[in-house]
Amino acid sequence: MAVNTELDWGNPFAISFHLVRPRCAGCGRRFYRKHNRRQSLRENYAAHGCELPAQWIDQNICPSCYNDLAVARCCLTGEAFPAAQNQYHRYVTEFRGDLSPDHGYGGLTGALSPAGLAKVQAQHANVMALLAHWSLGAKYETLPGFRIVRRLGPVRQENGLDSMAEVQAELKRRTAQRGGNGYICFYWEKKIHWSSETYVRGYGPRGNPWYGTRHIRHDTFTGQAEAVQAVPIV
Ligand SMILES: [Zn+2]
Repeated sequence: MAVNTELDWGNPFAISFHLVRPRCAGCGRRFYRKHNRRQSLRENYAAHGCELPAQWIDQNICPSCYNDLAVARCCLTGEAFPAAQNQYHRYVTEFRGDLSPDHGYGGLTGALSPAGLAKVQAQHANVMALLAHWSLGAKYETLPGFRIVRRLGPVRQENGLDSMAEVQAELKRRTAQRGGNGYICFYWEKKIHWSSETYVRGYGPRGNPWYGTRHIRHDTFTGQAEAVQAVPIV
């Protein structure tokens, strides 16, 4: 921090005012006056329609205690809750991968309350159960051995993958995210890509390399299907 050259060193009151930093009402530590979150905390509670607890009214609050005391709005339930209980990181690390991209909870952004996380967990368990009780994926409009009870619309894999098996696995995952346990009307496409690379073909009498060009083929697969709910025919 730059030395304040404009300080009036002849005035003891000015010096002490400059040196004494406020003490945080939360943790008791001193902090720089410019980092005071007193007003931010008041505004944060007001913005969420919450009443600031009396013990924090007009108190000095450091940035770290502000993070513990502030309230946040859950992006799923809409409720205000203590921001320190935000579950968004757990959502991202434990659940989002299995719900993205086709489940409605696959792309949540913002703060997530413990109640919001519980909803995500329940939906995640549903998706896992659908995968565990998977019926079939088929090319035609029927699933042998199963009766289709509901059609849920298309699922697509549009980014090219390395094999058809990977496309089928992805469509299965997306079907479960849509609430289905099977898919019909499976259709896939293969694209052939060529690239070329230069390589050393050999060496001339003076040791100079001869170059050749090699063409490399790489296939990618895409596909789509219609997600369905199916029950076994007994
Ligand atoms: Zn503090």
